[in-house]
Amino acid sequence: MKIAVYPGSFDPVTLGHLDIIQRASKLVDRLVIGVLTNISKKTVFSMEERVKFLELVIKEYNLESKIKIESFNGLLVDFAKAQNASFIVRGLRAVTDFDYELQLAQTNHVMVPDIDTVFFTTRLEYSYLSSSTVREIANFGGDIRHFVPECIIQFIYDKYKTIGSV
Ligand code: ADP
Repeated sequence: MKIAVYPGSFDPVTLGHLDIIQRASKLVDRLVIGVLTNISKKTVFSMEERVKFLELVIKEYNLESKIKIESFNGLLVDFAKAQNASFIVRGLRAVTDFDYELQLAQTNHVMVPDIDTVFFTTRLEYSYLSSSTVREIANFGGDIRHFVPECIIQFIYDKYKTIGSV
């Protein structure tokens, strides 16, 4: 069974993430989406919210049979090993992602040589898109329809109504 993990903070999941999830899931028998809990940056959405959004999206796009969503903290390679994964999936948007991603992939490869990192280049229409863009627009009540899956839009606006503009 070919298993890959796709780690990230997903704060919140965007159409760019979804595109990577759809494309990566075609290559493997199981794709485990790893939602990071120990990130140094503070997230706007709690771990439970980030996981719930992913679950809703996976359901809306009928991807449930191949995809598992797990939260994790600690080292990515330990999480990947625990999931019996042979691959780590990452997305590349622009050259600015490259330095960091290369360093991460190489470090992980030294630690666990039999797990390889596979990169998907972003689709052109999502190359500008990041969770922080979505947060910034939603924070000011802007239109996020082109950036995140339909089923989570209201939850995002509701969150900013609760916490107020930041
Ligand atoms: P991180 O906090 O580790 O950057 P993210 O949740 O922002 O985690 O992203 C997880 C992965 O998805 C990263 O590999 C990132 O490059 C990729 N990604 C994020 N947005 C896009 C996008 N619009 N197109 C392609 N890949 C993306």
